[in-house]
Amino acid sequence: MKYTFHNVDACNMCGGEGRIWGRRLSTSQGLRPRKRIGISTTVMRCRTCALIYSNPLPIPESISDHYSLPPEDYWHEDYFQISDDLFRDQLARLKELVPGAKTFLDIGAGIGKTMRAVDLDAYGIEASEPFYERAISRMGISPDRLKLSSFEDADYPQMFDIISFGVVLEHLYDPSAAIEKALTWLNPGGIIHIEVPSSAYLISRLMNLYFWLARTDMVVNISPMHVPFHLYEFTERSFELNGERLGYEVARVDRYPGTPPIGTRIASMLSPLMTMTKTGMGLIVYLRQAS
Ligand SMILES: [Zn+2]
Repeated sequence: MKYTFHNVDACNMCGGEGRIWGRRLSTSQGLRPRKRIGISTTVMRCRTCALIYSNPLPIPESISDHYSLPPEDYWHEDYFQISDDLFRDQLARLKELVPGAKTFLDIGAGIGKTMRAVDLDAYGIEASEPFYERAISRMGISPDRLKLSSFEDADYPQMFDIISFGVVLEHLYDPSAAIEKALTWLNPGGIIHIEVPSSAYLISRLMNLYFWLARTDMVVNISPMHVPFHLYEFTERSFELNGERLGYEVARVDRYPGTPPIGTRIASMLSPLMTMTKTGMGLIVYLRQAS
């Protein structure tokens, strides 16, 4: 895999200064990172909004190096089922925030499950051809409604009441530019829904503490050069300050603890603590144009 490394001068979201948070290997670090071979990038944390990011930012020569075709056995029958609760709670919140919403855009639509799950006039963008093809052939999505395109290359007029970035923004090189572009597609009174990993995640903090006690400077935040290729972790403050720059405001914030990879019993013990201290894995924000 070939990378170009871009120097990052300031926080992508608020423009603030970053400080060194640690280092991240180009592979899973395990519990004994000193025994792992790989290259590492520096992980930074914004002093102002606590956005976590990579500096330098590694950009692969070809995006398909990161998001290549999954093996054919990835496509289990189950994968094509749409569960009753898919996007249900989030859609209910969106309808409270945008009464009478009609048009919906899903960025990173995959095989179109969310497009199918919402009772709205749904459109989508999907960058991966195998997903796009199955959305059309298996899920009954109309090719008029789904674009095969990267987000960067896609364009729409101002026509959507709701735009959703579900677990997408953390993969984009320039999340602030992505929000700015999406705002131009949003109808007055509309909402942008964004689900991202939180930089305050308790389990990451505990793992970082473990690495610190083991006298390494490794951290577990983000994964710029290995699966799942997360380039950023966000906070509510990142969006508040980004909104001041781009002209939007945070209408609502939800958090969820997620399912940490540490065994069900410990996870169920830590879940209430993460909820109480706002240190769960996931952050969901609802943004609207500033009034
Ligand atoms: Zn910042």
